Amino acid sequence: MFFIIALAFVILFLSINHLFVKLTKDRLSYEYTSLIEQKNNLLSINNAVSERFKELEDRMSEAFVAYELARDISPIVNREKLLNLFADKLKEFGDIKDIGFFSRPRNGYDNYSLKSDSPRYLAVSSASDKIKEYIPLFLYQLNLCLERISLYDRLQQLSIHDSLTQVYNRRYLTERVNEEFERAKKFAFNLSFLMIDIDFFKKINDTYGHIVGDVVLRNVAFIIKDTLREIDTVGRYGGEEFSVVLPEASKKDAIIVAKRIVKRVASTKIRAFDENIKTTVSIGVSSYPENTAHLDMLIEIADKALYKSKKSGRNSVNWF
Ligand code: GH3
Ligand code: MG
Ligand code: MG
Repeated sequence: MFFIIALAFVILFLSINHLFVKLTKDRLSYEYTSLIEQKNNLLSINNAVSERFKELEDRMSEAFVAYELARDISPIVNREKLLNLFADKLKEFGDIKDIGFFSRPRNGYDNYSLKSDSPRYLAVSSASDKIKEYIPLFLYQLNLCLERISLYDRLQQLSIHDSLTQVYNRRYLTERVNEEFERAKKFAFNLSFLMIDIDFFKKINDTYGHIVGDVVLRNVAFIIKDTLREIDTVGRYGGEEFSVVLPEASKKDAIIVAKRIVKRVASTKIRAFDENIKTTVSIGVSSYPENTAHLDMLIEIADKALYKSKKSGRNSVNWF
């Protein structure tokens, strides 16, 4: 009897123990699984954070490269220099086989259109996918600079040209005369100056009106410019007066040029609306070193010579 009771106790003890061990094992296994789960969660958060960091880093370096490029190219006001530097920077940036600027798209290249009349395309060969991703960003900066240069050029043009006749204005002409005169003195070159005035221009205005007068002015300016060499400078001195600087031209050379202008103007029929108008010009010539070594005197002498032409019947050239 005692033995049976003892056995029952032992069995009960063993069962309780087994149950206890099982419960502990289950609990531990549950904790282990949840730890693994937590660890996996942390790992995936970590991966997401790293990816986001990498994305941010890429964006930062993109912005930095774009900033560097903009900083380097934006002070340039010369179109050719700008394009050369841009191409160099892009080459520095990555594996590009060839890069250039052209008026038409190039076969076998990736072509990107530019905000410029000439050249109109950026052509890139063998760029990696990464560079291709960057190019639109760089192109945006380049286009901004190209637009700025166009505006700058236009402003320059407007500020030095006379809007009616398209020859240089008096301010720019004065600058050029000063420069050329200094150069002539420094290198012992000849230099000549012409003062040109349209004859009886007031009568043209009075007879046909100012608008016709304007057409005549434009045509005379064109004839003068067309008779000169590339290195000569013609400007509108005032109303219907023009002056010309002839670098490296002696008095003899300048007289030949002035006579040619007088002859061409006199023999041209100027078409202005329904009118065919004939006009003439008078010219005064002065030269360095033949007449004077002072610029203000050079202009005064040409003016006096012009007055002589007017006095002697117009449509002629005079000098001292
Ligand atoms: P001269 O042979 O002595 O030079 O006589 P002129 O009539 O040419 O000279 P004048 O100085 O008496 O007249 C110049 C005229 O030029 C007067 C002015 O109205 C005119 N003029 C000046 N600027 C312009 C312009 O931009 N357009 C037009 N249509 N006329 C102008
Ligand atoms: Mg006149
Ligand atoms: Mg005059």
